[in-house]
Amino acid sequence: MKLLVTGGAGFIGSAVVRRAIAQGHEVVNLDALTYAACLDNVASVVDHPGYAFEQADIRDRAALDRVFDAHRPDAVMHLAAESHVDRSIDGPGTFIDTNVMGTFHLLEAARAYWTGAGRPEAFRFHHISTDEVYGSLPADPRTRFTEDTAYDPRSPYSASKAGSDHLVRAWHETYGLPVVLTNCSNNYGPYHFPEKLIPVVILNALAGKPLPIYGDGSNVRDWLYVEDHAEALLQVITRGTVGRSYAIGGENERTNLQLVQTLCAILDRKRPLPKGSYADLITFVTDRPGHDARYAIDPARIRDELGWRPSVTVEEGLERTVDWYLAHEPWWRALQHRQGVGQRLGVTA
Ligand code: NAD
Repeated sequence: MKLLVTGGAGFIGSAVVRRAIAQGHEVVNLDALTYAACLDNVASVVDHPGYAFEQADIRDRAALDRVFDAHRPDAVMHLAAESHVDRSIDGPGTFIDTNVMGTFHLLEAARAYWTGAGRPEAFRFHHISTDEVYGSLPADPRTRFTEDTAYDPRSPYSASKAGSDHLVRAWHETYGLPVVLTNCSNNYGPYHFPEKLIPVVILNALAGKPLPIYGDGSNVRDWLYVEDHAEALLQVITRGTVGRSYAIGGENERTNLQLVQTLCAILDRKRPLPKGSYADLITFVTDRPGHDARYAIDPARIRDELGWRPSVTVEEGLERTVDWYLAHEPWWRALQHRQGVGQRLGVTA
């Protein structure tokens, strides 16, 4: 397929781009190159004949029309978004602009292109979203999010993603646009921007700085290795049922404290300190306002219908992630100077 991937210079989008090229797809990577983007993430495919890059903003309808006309994709994989909850607390406007209005403009550009092409049945608009749209779960491990869970977003980020999900469904119901949706749990792995918990912990540990944990560290997340997510997305775009959504999770629930302790144990083995453990650097800091207590996904639909399942446990994935950060210092050093990186964000509430 010729895939138009939005946000392909970001963390997950770049994993999708690299994997799609490796699987023989053609890729047009459309990205505005915000603070969160890094073209080095796709350096390994930049010279591939099946790869093209377009610097464009999803809020710019004229630019989107130009890209659709120039490349005539078979499908859209829409990942471009503002993605950091803490930044959404300090500046929600950009999240509404990009995640809601940007998705609206992309839907309209896709609809115009699809209509002009005679409404091909095989066309797909794949909207990539988050499990955070479902709100927060109680501690009871029998409760998990499914595709039927009612929406209950609680942060400006998750509310903006929920809004975009609703638009995508409405464009399917109203205009017949052939859409698929996915809602995924927390990702981690190589090329994770150094403002998110796992890279912050690895890089602070290597610098001997405190390892900040929000609140008491009891918040639970269902961690998924980014390469497993990219594979799930490619399964859905090629084999998913139109109009359907798929919840994607790693079945790897950990509290933030457990996660950070695991990272410390891996670092203790790979980069031992002269004395003590990296865990001695753990520091509890003021909680994020409205911090969701627990997310967990029941991935039965994607497992039963498409045969997808995660390939690694969280321990294996974290081991690979630490190895990657240890081997790619120039990559993360260059990003540490970007605006807001290394600062506590999201406390203005
Ligand atoms: P990211 O912040 O690493 O990357 C986002 C990319 O989108 C960047 O390259 C950025 O330049 C681009 N972008 C932002 N605004 C744009 C605009 N207006 N026009 C064009 N490009 C723009 O994000 P990520 O973590 O890779 O997440 C990708 C998608 O997956 C998002 O839609 C996010 O909501 C969703 N998601 C993320 C996670 C996670 O754990 N990170 C989990 C589930 C779903």
